[in-house]
Amino acid sequence: MNTNTKTGPPTFKLVLLGDGRVGKTSLVLRYVNNVFSDSQTATIQASYLTKRLNINGTVVTLSIWDTAGQERFHALGPIYYRDADAALLVYDVMDKDTFTRVRNWVKELRQMASKNIILAIAANKSDLVRSQKIDLQEAERYAESIGAKHFVTSAKLNTGIEQVFLDIATRALEKRKSIIEELPSIPQRKGMVIIDEQPGPPPQSKCCS
Ligand code: GDP
Ligand code: MG
Repeated sequence: MNTNTKTGPPTFKLVLLGDGRVGKTSLVLRYVNNVFSDSQTATIQASYLTKRLNINGTVVTLSIWDTAGQERFHALGPIYYRDADAALLVYDVMDKDTFTRVRNWVKELRQMASKNIILAIAANKSDLVRSQKIDLQEAERYAESIGAKHFVTSAKLNTGIEQVFLDIATRALEKRKSIIEELPSIPQRKGMVIIDEQPGPPPQSKCCS
């Protein structure tokens, strides 16, 4: 976990994973800056962007890590996702191969990432198909089988995006809270004067002069 659980609002590291051109960068830029470009370039400047959200009164920060396009060369190593609290797996609804790739990423995460990493799947570019044409049953069943939620998104039309990130942040916060509750309670010593009781001098021997 890459956060300080004692001070400040909780921060969660979320990584974006998926084939090149599925719309990872577009989803992040839509969510954080509310912009979309039809000619999104392969890389973005920052390695991560942050977004603050309020979840029922608790402010949390998502640090959202996007790739710099390494996935196009199959060169995205564990260093990218190893300490992530959550992963958003993105595929393109128009391209079945990109869904297969999601399955591969999940296998890799199972082996290399934190065991209980939070997972969500985004079926992106939904604006390109009439909704009744997308067969989502298989994807939804798969998502359920890995404990992930499945969302239909369009970075272009800004649909489904708030929901994905809110779901991830909410689950991350719930998990963090349950971990804190499980910790053995530490005695509260604040404001208490601790007197170190030194053993006194050995009692004078009154015996026998
Ligand atoms: P990445 O390689 O996964 O980061 O994908 P990009 O965000 O760079 O997007 C690749 C291409 O798909 C760009 O031309 C985007 O404009 C386009 N794109 C991304 N999201 C959507 C979407 O929801 N709908 C449509 N129609 N195009 C999208
Ligand atoms: Mg990108």
